[in-house]
Amino acid sequence: MTILESARRKAEQGERLNLADALALYEENDLLFLADVARRAKERASGRSVFFNVNRHINLTNICTSGCPLCAFQVAEGESHGYVMEAADVARVLAEAKEVKRLGEIHIVSALHPTKPFDYYINVVRQVKAALPDADIKAFTPVEIVHFAEMTGKSVKEVLALLQEAGLSSLPGGGAEILADRVRAIICPKKATAAQWIETMKAAHSLGIRTNATMLYGHVETIEERLQHLVTLRDIQDETGGFQAFVSFPFHPANTQLAKDYALERVGSWEDMKMMALSRLILDNIRHIKAFWIMLTMPVAQLALGFGADDLDGTIGEEKIIHAAGAKTGTGITRERLCRIIREAGYEPVERDTFYHALASGEGEA
Ligand code: SF4
Repeated sequence: MTILESARRKAEQGERLNLADALALYEENDLLFLADVARRAKERASGRSVFFNVNRHINLTNICTSGCPLCAFQVAEGESHGYVMEAADVARVLAEAKEVKRLGEIHIVSALHPTKPFDYYINVVRQVKAALPDADIKAFTPVEIVHFAEMTGKSVKEVLALLQEAGLSSLPGGGAEILADRVRAIICPKKATAAQWIETMKAAHSLGIRTNATMLYGHVETIEERLQHLVTLRDIQDETGGFQAFVSFPFHPANTQLAKDYALERVGSWEDMKMMALSRLILDNIRHIKAFWIMLTMPVAQLALGFGADDLDGTIGEEKIIHAAGAKTGTGITRERLCRIIREAGYEPVERDTFYHALASGEGEA
C-alpha cells in the first residue's frame, strides 16, 4: 500500500494521521474527499451542532515594541495613529456591551506597549469583571503574556496566576503563527519564540486556564512546516488536554512589510478549505475547529462548515487588528444572522459560552 492509499484509509476510518499521511493528502489535492472525511470527523466530535457566541472584542492599544513584518496593526510609539484605551475608554465599550442580550465573552488582545505597566492590564481585567460579572474574559495571547513576564521579571506562570485571580478565564491562543524558528525569524523575529508560546500554553493549562490554539498560514512557510505545526499542537494537546478550539487564519497581506518583501498575495479559498479539512483530520484531539468569519468572510466561513468546522466564532462588535490588514468583512453580525447562516448549511445553531456549554439553540432564545 502506498503512503497515499494508507493515508486515505486512515482518514476514512478516523485513525490518527502522521506527518507523511498529512503531506500525501495535501499533495493529492482531492478537496471533495477531504471535505467528506473531515465532515464525518466533525460529526463524530460535535454531531449536527455548530457553535457561536455573543462576544465583544477590545484591542487596547496598537503601539508595539515588536514591529513584526507580518503585522498591519501595530505602530511605533509617537506615530500619529497610535492609540491607547484608558479606563474611561474601556468603560464606554463596557457600557455598550451591557446593553447586548446574553453577552457571554469579552475578548481582549492588543499590541506590546513599551511602557504600560502590568497593573494597567490587571486593572482592565478587574474593570471588565466588575462591569460584566457573568461574561467570561478571554484575554492576552501567549506573546502578550511573555511580554508581561519580561516587563515584570515574574515567571509566565506567576503572570497567568495574577491575571486569573483578577478574573481572566481563558486565553485566545494567538501569536502561534507557525511554530518553526526559521519562519518566525522572518515574520516576527522579536516576539515570543515558538518554545515560549508552547511553554505559556502548558503553564496556562496547568493552572486550569483553557485556551485556543491558532495558526497563521499562507506566507513564507513550507507546507511541511504548516502541517508539522498542526502535529505539534496535537502533541501539546495529548499532554495537557487544555486546548478547547483551533482557529486558523490565512495571512492578509495588505499593508504589511512581509507582503512587500516577499511579494505575497492572499491564498485562495481552495487552500482555506483544504487547510480547514486537514486541521479537522490532524487535530483529532481538539474538539472544536473554528471558521473565524471575520478573517475568511462569512460566505467562505459558511462553506467551511462543510469542511469540518463546527464554530463560527461570534458577533464580535468591533475588531481592529485584522481590518488593519485589509479584511473587508464587517465588524459585527447579529445572532439571528449567524443562526440563519448555520441552518442554511444544514446544521443546528447552538449559542455557547466560552467553554462550549450550550446556552440556547434555535434563534438564540433560551
Ligand atoms: S503581531 Fe503583535 S507583537 Fe507583532 S507587531 Fe503586531 S501587535 Fe506587535
